[in-house]
Amino acid sequence: MFERIALIGIGLINSSLARFVREQGLAREIVIYSRRQSTLDKAMELGLAERAETNAGAAVERADFIILGAPVGANAALAEAIGPHLQPGAIVSDVGSVKAAVIRDVAPHLPAGVHLVPAHPVAGTEHSGPEAGFAELFQNHWCILTPPEGCDAAAVEKVTEFWRLAGSTVDIMDAEHHDKVLAITSHLPQLIAYNIVGTVLDVEHVTKREVVKYAAGGFRDFTRIAASDPEMWRDVFLNNREAVLEMLGRFSEDLAVLQRAIRWGDDKVLEDLFTRTRAIRRDLIDAKQV
Ligand code: NAP
Repeated sequence: MFERIALIGIGLINSSLARFVREQGLAREIVIYSRRQSTLDKAMELGLAERAETNAGAAVERADFIILGAPVGANAALAEAIGPHLQPGAIVSDVGSVKAAVIRDVAPHLPAGVHLVPAHPVAGTEHSGPEAGFAELFQNHWCILTPPEGCDAAAVEKVTEFWRLAGSTVDIMDAEHHDKVLAITSHLPQLIAYNIVGTVLDVEHVTKREVVKYAAGGFRDFTRIAASDPEMWRDVFLNNREAVLEMLGRFSEDLAVLQRAIRWGDDKVLEDLFTRTRAIRRDLIDAKQV
């Protein structure tokens, strides 16, 4: 499918892509870039690529498919570094969890004749690094493409086919819409997890030992989510600021309603909400999303 794929960043997501590309023989050659030599050494030991570069420009030379897979805040500098080395006809994509910021940061650095087709695989784990990846990560998950207006249709088709081969179902939408949807389905839940784990750690009359000892189901689930990569999530919130703040406003209002219901013993408000939320879980199970 491709002559040379360049994976810029080789963490959980791009290393999973490297494994699947290898398994299915979709590229003659994979070249990887990472910031630290130690990450590249690990990836090469795992047999993820033919060549490793600590210079992003050198990594994309003569590549026909380039996938940016670093935290989204790094994209502007990476795009600036690779821009002059891209060959005409190359497709530049990414796997970032926000999309409008990717187009804003990457598009200005791409030469004419290079196609930008941003992508977001809605799949992941709380683990990081090349050793955390696995080829099946994307199977039965969505991958959302957000091609900018006027994007080359053949390039979009090729990226769509790539993600279908990875086992994903592809949806295409506008980058701004993507960022709003993901703000409520992914970014806000993540923020709540960070916040609740932070609050528990700060409650001074409960010792850390007791928290670990008595961690019940709910809190334990939050700690899994809150164990995700700090740099990646820092960048998600800073690069999807408006949508997250809008959803956070709604969330705070709804939380105040619950606070009031508990204070005034309003059993109906609590029971009504808990009944409606249970139905959502059933919808997810029916849609095979859990
Ligand atoms: P990861 O495992 O933490 O790996 C990050 C990679 O980016 C490493 O190669 C790292 O290099 C490199 N990197 C970090 N900061 C950099 C910087 N400032 N400049 C250049 N390179 C840098 O990350 P990941 O979980 O695969 O996430 C990668 C992207 O996928 C993110 O944009 C994220 O939003 C998106 N995503 C993640 C998930 C998820 O569940 N994790 C799901 C969907 C999408 P070194 O190791 O050499 O420092």
